[in-house]
Amino acid sequence: MAPLCPFLKASGLIMVKVLVLIGMAFCAAKVRSLFHNFALLHMKPLAELFPLLLLPRKVVITTHQKPDADAMGSSLALGHYLRKKGHQVSVVSPTNWADFVNWMPGTEMVLNYEQKTAKANEILASADIIFCLDFNSFHRTKSMTAVLQSLLCTKVLIDHHQEPDSASFMYGISDTSKSSTCEMIYDFLVAAGDADMIDQDIAACIYAGVVGDTGSFRFASAHAGVHSLVADLKRRGLDHGKIHEGLYDNFLENRLRFIGHVLLHRMEILYEFNTALIVIPKSDLIDFNIRTGETDGLVNYPHSIQGIRFAALVIDRDEERKWSFRSKGLFDCNTFARTYFEGGGHYNASGGRSRDSLEKTVAAFKAVLPLQLSLLN
Ligand code: 5GP
Ligand code: MN
Repeated sequence: MAPLCPFLKASGLIMVKVLVLIGMAFCAAKVRSLFHNFALLHMKPLAELFPLLLLPRKVVITTHQKPDADAMGSSLALGHYLRKKGHQVSVVSPTNWADFVNWMPGTEMVLNYEQKTAKANEILASADIIFCLDFNSFHRTKSMTAVLQSLLCTKVLIDHHQEPDSASFMYGISDTSKSSTCEMIYDFLVAAGDADMIDQDIAACIYAGVVGDTGSFRFASAHAGVHSLVADLKRRGLDHGKIHEGLYDNFLENRLRFIGHVLLHRMEILYEFNTALIVIPKSDLIDFNIRTGETDGLVNYPHSIQGIRFAALVIDRDEERKWSFRSKGLFDCNTFARTYFEGGGHYNASGGRSRDSLEKTVAAFKAVLPLQLSLLN
């Protein structure tokens, strides 16, 4: 029998298709959220840690090797807060750190594990609680990895990187939607009902990490909540200009000369792939007397060139060739670093390494780049 109204029948079919699509999207979201929740099943929420902090504890705070502004800022901010709460707090960095974080209040008290291994091991062995900040897996702490794995005390993770090793922590939060671990420390203080304990030192450390990890508020991770956080810190007396100066106007002449040299002689633009590659041999680091942290931010420079969507920087370090990757838009640096260079990080910013020579690792990069062609155009 012919339909009474053919138009109605066609629109009915469209409706069914739309409903099926909505149903499929809903199921996919449910499955994703189930997997997400399963991944976090191992860690109890931070709120359950608050009762444990009602008594004075021996606390160690640690972070990833070569701590940047977010790693150091979050560690110091949490350290200042817990000390004010009456806990005995030590901050241990797995390695040395860049001079540009040295202005942060409290850095003089941070132990460098590589320098003070015996003392740090003693402190770690007697800790009640260890906070692990701004990294997703113990191997990011280099030579501290084994000792952190072996300790039986309460381990807490606060981090915003992908694929956390949740099973290694009793309490914690891993949230990739957060701009920075510093933002998460701010959330922690607020959730604990202690926002009024945020003093100038804590505010400075938190702000430094947020600025560092959001590229001074330009990345998508600088969501509305980040700006509300900054407004709150400002109301509490934060001098934001001083922190930008501390982070960005605090280098020696050699670093600027080095950047000029690198951009002129060490940067290759691979227009076919909308990619820039910077390769820094060890001799450059020696010639310009480049120290820890003085190469930070270099990988961002090529993004000021029209059309560049992916920037890769490799530095010939003693023990390894260290990669930094940065992308704009829909190119997944985390997957790229994980797949080809034993690394990881975030969607638009990641890092990795290679044990091969500089020439071989550069050749490996150029060999896999054509596989990314469709993603880079
Ligand atoms: P950067 O290039 O500044 O060293 O690192 C960019 C981002 O990638 C940071 O969030 C950093 O924590 C992460 N990252 C850098 N290197 C590695 C690595 O070797 N492994 C992992 N999992 N993440 C890394
Ligand atoms: Mn961070």
